[in-house]
Amino acid sequence: MLQRPPSAQLAAVDYPALDMQAEDNDPVPKFHPLFDSSEADVVLGSHDGVLFRVHSYTLKTTSGWFKSMFSLPQKEEEDKKPDAATFQVTLYLDEDSAVLESLFRCICGLPIPLLDSYDIIEPFLYAAEKYDMPGPLSIIRALIMTPPMLEDPLRLFVMACRYGWVDIAQLAATKTLTLNIFDASLRTTLKKLTTPSLLNLIDLHRARRDLLKQRLNEAPFVSDGPSSCSHCGSPVDYHTWRELKHAMIMEMDVRPLGDTICEVNLADWPQARSCWEAKCSTCSRVLYDRKETLIAIRNSIDGLQLSQ
Ligand SMILES: [Zn+2]
Repeated sequence: MLQRPPSAQLAAVDYPALDMQAEDNDPVPKFHPLFDSSEADVVLGSHDGVLFRVHSYTLKTTSGWFKSMFSLPQKEEEDKKPDAATFQVTLYLDEDSAVLESLFRCICGLPIPLLDSYDIIEPFLYAAEKYDMPGPLSIIRALIMTPPMLEDPLRLFVMACRYGWVDIAQLAATKTLTLNIFDASLRTTLKKLTTPSLLNLIDLHRARRDLLKQRLNEAPFVSDGPSSCSHCGSPVDYHTWRELKHAMIMEMDVRPLGDTICEVNLADWPQARSCWEAKCSTCSRVLYDRKETLIAIRNSIDGLQLSQ
């Protein structure tokens, strides 16, 4: 029963309950209440058996796919107009009734449905893309930056990449910086990306870690080489700073945004506490200026790029 135009010719399909008054056991045709106007000249069936009466003019002007389909020879069906008692289903579609209702609401100027989860939006977008419907696609593009969608930035990034929404993809990529994209739990979502998009995302995450690592080895931070106490001149070793640097880089690996590397959190890091307590073994002067070091760390993280 399913047809996949535009390669297939538009052909009426007899609905099994066409003679619905003849047999008590016949299934009753189930029209969607919002799409049951007898004036509409096309009857479309969903995968789960719900029927939608829609005007062919609406379909042709809002869908490239239906425009192509209706441009094919129509044969004798041209003269047929469905009415409440007698009708033929023009076409059964692959989508279920929830997806078709959302699509038809959008193209028919009805209130748009609640599109507040990826599980709802993804099949809707897939169908809008399949039927070449720019209107519904643009509605999703406008809605996609709302809080429920932003709560899953990786899925948003995948969607934005798929549909070529460059600005949204960049913003979503920035928001993924709170995630460890190498965590196994995200692999299924990452597999939906094309290789270039996946590599771009990995580059963004890695670049922040690598650049911070580089900056922490530069002034104003102490160097790794042989050093002496600025007060008494005795040789000092900065191993406590090296350990803190390593801990910060590890943190950037799992959360490249770097927002967890802050004064409040560092107070609980043993590597940080060792740093702040480190003193010259000769004159007991503290080795690191805690306040200035924290400011320099924050400035280094704030200076990292947030998108590509
Ligand atoms: Zn000293």
